[in-house]
Amino acid sequence: MMADDRTDLIGLSRDELVRELATIGERPFRAKQLWHWIYHRGETDFERMTTLTKPLRTRLAGIFRVGRPEVASEQTSADRSRKWLVRFADGNEAETVFIPEEDRGALCMSSQVGCTLTCTFCHTGTQRLVRNLDAGEIVGQMMLARDSYGEWPSPAGERLLSNIVMMGMGEPLLNFDNVAKALRIIMDGEGIAISKRRITLSTSGVVPVIARCGDELGVNLAVSLHAPTDALRDVLVPINRKYPIAELLAACRAYPGANNARRITFEYVMLKGVNDSLADARELVRLVRGLPAKFNLIPFNPWPGAIYQCSTPGAMKRFAALLNDAGYSAPIRVPRGRDIMAACGQLKSASEHRRGSRAKDHQPLQRSQRATTSVEPSITS
Ligand code: SAH
Ligand code: SF4
Repeated sequence: MMADDRTDLIGLSRDELVRELATIGERPFRAKQLWHWIYHRGETDFERMTTLTKPLRTRLAGIFRVGRPEVASEQTSADRSRKWLVRFADGNEAETVFIPEEDRGALCMSSQVGCTLTCTFCHTGTQRLVRNLDAGEIVGQMMLARDSYGEWPSPAGERLLSNIVMMGMGEPLLNFDNVAKALRIIMDGEGIAISKRRITLSTSGVVPVIARCGDELGVNLAVSLHAPTDALRDVLVPINRKYPIAELLAACRAYPGANNARRITFEYVMLKGVNDSLADARELVRLVRGLPAKFNLIPFNPWPGAIYQCSTPGAMKRFAALLNDAGYSAPIRVPRGRDIMAACGQLKSASEHRRGSRAKDHQPLQRSQRATTSVEPSITS
C-alpha cells in the first residue's frame, strides 16, 4: 500500500488552516466552512462537505485528509467505562478512557506515549518508550471517542462527552505547547466547543509551567500531591526533588483564575501504611491553608508488579473525614474500569505489556536510579 502523504488537517490551528488553504488559492471563509465540517459535524469525507463546490471537494481530497488515529483495541468495562488503545502513524500507542456518569462523562486523554517521570505507584511511569504526542494526536483521541459514541454534530445542550481530563498517560506540562494547541482546538466555539470550565489538566508538579496553564488556557488545575512532606514526596513523585512542595504550593497560590468557586484539586493516591495516617491528613490541612483547595482521594489501583497496596476503607474514610472537618471537600473516588485496567495509573500501552513487565523493572532501587537520569523538563519527540 502506498503511504498517504496528504496533509492531515486534524491538529492544525485555525490560523494554520487558513494558511494551508491560502497555499492553494482559497480564501479564509473556506477555512471557516471546513472547520465546521471537521470539528462540528465530525465529517472525514470531503465529498460529503456539501457547502463546498464539487470541484473544490475533489481538489481538497487530493491534497488533504481528515484523519483519525487507528484504534488498536477498544474495551468496555462492566461499569460502562470504555478504553481505547490508540495507535499513531509511527506505531506508537497511548490510551484514552471514557468515564460515563449519569448524564455526562469525562474523557481522560493522554498527552504522551508513556511518561518520563517515574512516580513509584504509577504503571505508566514504568514504560520505557516515551515521546510527546503532537496536537493532532491529542485532538484525535477526542475525535475517535466522539466517533465511537456517534456524538456528531457537536450537541448544543446535553452531551455524553461533556468533560475532558488530561489524566491519561504522560505529564501534560512537559508537552505544554502541543497540549495547549490541542485544547484550543477542542475549546473553539465553532467546533467541538468544550468550555475551559469543563477541562481539567493534571500535573505532577512541573512548577515553571503551571502559570501558563492558567494564563493561556484558563482550564482547571489538578495537582498530584500524594504526600504531605518532601521526604515522602521525593520517593512517590520524584519530580519533587526538583520542585519541592513549597514551590509547588506557591505556584498554586498564584494560579490565575483560582478562587473559591474554582478550586484547585489536590489528588492524593491512598497507599496503605505509606501516606494514609491521620497525622498525614493534618499536615495536608496545614499545607493548603489559605488556598482555594479541594481534595480528590484516589484509592490506589494495583497493577502487576506494583510495590504498594491500597489503604483500607476505614483508613480512607478517617482520612477523608479529617479533611472534611477542616472544611475541605475530599471525595474518595470510586475506581472505574478496573476490570479493563483503565483506572487511574494503570495505563500502559499493550506493546509495552507484551514486551514484558519483569518484576525487576519495578524494584524501588532501579526506579530511583532511572528517576535521576530521566527527570528533565524537556523531552525530545
Ligand atoms: N501525569 C499527570 C497526569 C496523569 S496521572 C499527573 O501525574 O498528574 C492521573 C492521576 O492518577 C494522577 O494524580 C496520578 O498520580 C494518579 N495515579 C497514578 N498511578 C495511580 C495508581 N496506580 N492508582 C491511583 N492513582 C494513580
Ligand atoms: Fe507520569 Fe503522572 Fe504517572 Fe507520575 S503519575 S509517572 S507524572 S503519568
